[in-house]
Amino acid sequence: MFDLQSLVRENIRNLVPYSSARGEFQGTARIFLDANENSFGSPINRNYSRYPDPLQSKIKERVAELNNVSPSQIFVGNGSDEAIDLLIRVFCRPAVDSVVVCPPTYGMYEVSAAINDVAVQRANLTPAFELDVDAVKERLKPETKLIFLCSPNNPTGNLLGEEAIFDVLRSFNGIVVVDEAYIHFSGKQSLINRLSDYPNLVILQTFSKAWGLAGLRVGLAFGSPKIIGLLNCVKPPYNVSEVAQEQVLSAISKESKVVETVDAIVRQRTELSARLAELSIVSTVYRSDANFLLVRVENAKSIYEFLLDQKIVVRNRSSVVLCDECLRITVGTPDENTLLIEALKEYEKSAVH
Ligand SMILES: *Cc1c(COP(=O)(O)O)cnc(C)c1O
Repeated sequence: MFDLQSLVRENIRNLVPYSSARGEFQGTARIFLDANENSFGSPINRNYSRYPDPLQSKIKERVAELNNVSPSQIFVGNGSDEAIDLLIRVFCRPAVDSVVVCPPTYGMYEVSAAINDVAVQRANLTPAFELDVDAVKERLKPETKLIFLCSPNNPTGNLLGEEAIFDVLRSFNGIVVVDEAYIHFSGKQSLINRLSDYPNLVILQTFSKAWGLAGLRVGLAFGSPKIIGLLNCVKPPYNVSEVAQEQVLSAISKESKVVETVDAIVRQRTELSARLAELSIVSTVYRSDANFLLVRVENAKSIYEFLLDQKIVVRNRSSVVLCDECLRITVGTPDENTLLIEALKEYEKSAVH
């Protein structure tokens, strides 16, 4: 049976969280002299002399409406990378516990684990980039606290099968983190609406991709109010700046514009995929549910360097398991994609085959 309390590190269970001035007193007052802020204001046009809302309640209210959950089920972080780190710190004892990841996948899960001195067990995806549920189950030990799944997966681009994810959720008494950074490009529903079925499910989303706000550093975690409460206890008190909170709120009020850009990116994905597939140097363009394409080519290193010479930067993923000779290419604007294709045709002509 899933027992959250017994999963949590003892020092976190006993933690008395930092109590910030803005956390203790909320609401309006005549004068605020409680937080050692500068009452004379900021030296720039806009005033940022006050600490931001530590629990980002305005953002949570709007995100809760959009996703049909309660604000208590939402964590807002300094990018979803912060949520990844906090999940490891809440559940994994350094040098004792472990996490499972499914390569090829997002590198931050392993890096965050390594920073926290937490061991990583790898259950590779199948050659078709599907979840290998048996391999995941074989990696599970009493010390396994978290499983990181990424759907749509980075760098392969595909959604993982829902039934496989549910199978993992049912067969594991720790936390299953499903990273949905790219879900808005997939045309599929988020697993947020399955949170009530799986108390061990945590979903990550971000404002960095579909929302076009990577520079603001704002990410989201969705889970049970108890799990979200633990993340809030451990996070730095003012983890999301006032500027970031303002701009995210303003973006949420323009959601229809985001839907339009996502549609445009998905159309460009189809077109770019077709144009890449026509090139003789391309052997496979993998199906993508995200805003990038994984492309297997004749000589990834040489093509990567040729593109760099043309000041076009893509990601060479050749050194990653199951991705040899693969480039990961973000879908750009129509002009950017045309420039890319022209450069690749140039390479085709010049390359000695
Ligand atoms: C880009 C990306 C993120 C986003 O991280 P942020 O810290 O929110 O910018 C998360 N997960 C995956 C798999 C990604 O590719």
